[in-house]
Amino acid sequence: MSGNSPPWLEGLLKAYALVDQSVSAALAKEKAARERSPVCGPGCCRCCGHIIPVSAVEMAGAMWHLGQKVPAAKRNVILRRFGRISQESCPFLLEGQCLVYALRFMACRQFWVFGVACRAGEDVLTSREDDVLRPDTDLKMLAFAKLRTIYGMQDDGVVDKKSLYGFIKRVSLPIQMWRMHPVKSLHELASTKRFSLE
Ligand code: SF4
Ligand code: SF4
Repeated sequence: MSGNSPPWLEGLLKAYALVDQSVSAALAKEKAARERSPVCGPGCCRCCGHIIPVSAVEMAGAMWHLGQKVPAAKRNVILRRFGRISQESCPFLLEGQCLVYALRFMACRQFWVFGVACRAGEDVLTSREDDVLRPDTDLKMLAFAKLRTIYGMQDDGVVDKKSLYGFIKRVSLPIQMWRMHPVKSLHELASTKRFSLE
């Protein structure tokens, strides 16, 4: 971590690494059991139009990545999308590409589909639930617990699924609502030292 990194970034990256592990474990299990690999890949982005729950620290991570790693011309296109009412896809999607891929949200990291790619308007969770990957729950709970420490709550090693799901629900907003936030408040979020539960 560089000296210029915000204090919460390390915890966020650890939480994301745990989510990625939960996905890898589930993919290996699926491969062994049913010889299936996901169909998700570059340019396939219909899922980026879903209602995606995003916590403040995840949004701060995406904004930090945008500011540090994305060229100004593309960054400005993305920033102009904020502060307006819109039902469009995730604001970080540009020409079929996720501009914050390395710091994409937990929900994005977990969502993998088998069989055929999602069709326009399809909600695969209802149309063919069996084709949606189920990440390893224990690792996913550890990721939520890690995220909770960024909100000042102790990681006591106790994995209480109900309280962890409750925590994530409390600190998250749909991406479409984040999209309405003015850019200034999002920049302030990215320079936050510690997140609150309010
Ligand atoms: S979840 Fe669906 S839309 Fe998203 S990358 Fe996978 S197949 Fe494509
Ligand atoms: S963060 Fe990236 S992967 Fe996630 S919804 Fe937005 S564009 Fe898609």
